[in-house]
Amino acid sequence: MLDYHVHSQFSIDCDTRMEESCEAAIAAGVTEIAFTDHVDHETADPGFGYYRADDYFGAIEAVRSRFGERLTVLAAAEVDFNERTAPEVERFLAQHAYDFVIGSVHYGDDGVIIFPDYFAGRTSDRVFTEYFRQIAFAVETGWFDTIGHLDLPKRYAPHGHRNYDPLAYRDLLEPIFASMIAREVAFEINTSGLRQAPKTSMPGPAIVRWYVEAGGRLMTTGTDSHLARTVGFGLPLTLDMLELCGIEHVAAFRGRQRQLVPISQLREAAAAGDGAI
Ligand SMILES: [Zn+2]
Ligand SMILES: [Zn+2]
Repeated sequence: MLDYHVHSQFSIDCDTRMEESCEAAIAAGVTEIAFTDHVDHETADPGFGYYRADDYFGAIEAVRSRFGERLTVLAAAEVDFNERTAPEVERFLAQHAYDFVIGSVHYGDDGVIIFPDYFAGRTSDRVFTEYFRQIAFAVETGWFDTIGHLDLPKRYAPHGHRNYDPLAYRDLLEPIFASMIAREVAFEINTSGLRQAPKTSMPGPAIVRWYVEAGGRLMTTGTDSHLARTVGFGLPLTLDMLELCGIEHVAAFRGRQRQLVPISQLREAAAAGDGAI
């Protein structure tokens, strides 16, 4: 199985060292792990200026030499994106050679992070509409291999805003799917929603089905782990869900080049525990 969204000591909100997550990945039947630390360009973000790329790549080399025979380790990043920071994001990506890059939206149009306070004085509709507008812009750039946690606001919605129904946004999602398919940009199934308030992945099966109906096939899988014990969490369930929705492959990456791995092969490798995809 592929856990393509894991944070490490290079993210401001994570104290888990790469070695711990590699050990947990092997124990959980994960065959490939992508360390996707936060790269923030919003100056108001607590993580702004925290990421140190040279140290990050050095740490990747160290875990590769220690775990490489049992686990494929990808150099990756979760790059925060919105239209205000687009020029900085473009510059950053031109300067760093990753295997895999997630583009994630965490801020609204007014530069306020989408945490529970953001919903005060806003309708859920306004929050989601703006969120999907930024997602559409992220897809259009073509800079990202996959889009992170496609319907993230549902995770942070406080009580009183927990009326999210993706059907209300299908009209906004359809052009996003068309753009993803045209540009070969994937989106991830982020399993952190399963262990947090929404109790469903981000996104859940309804959105995956619409994407498949639109002709989409490119998906990545990730746990968004900030703790070693959640590495691999929910991935078997996610593979079941993807198959039920008509997806037969998950996207894997090396040096930003995509290959599709059959889900059946991922299950066999996880069962065999041989560390190969
Ligand atoms: Zn994120
Ligand atoms: Zn993350």
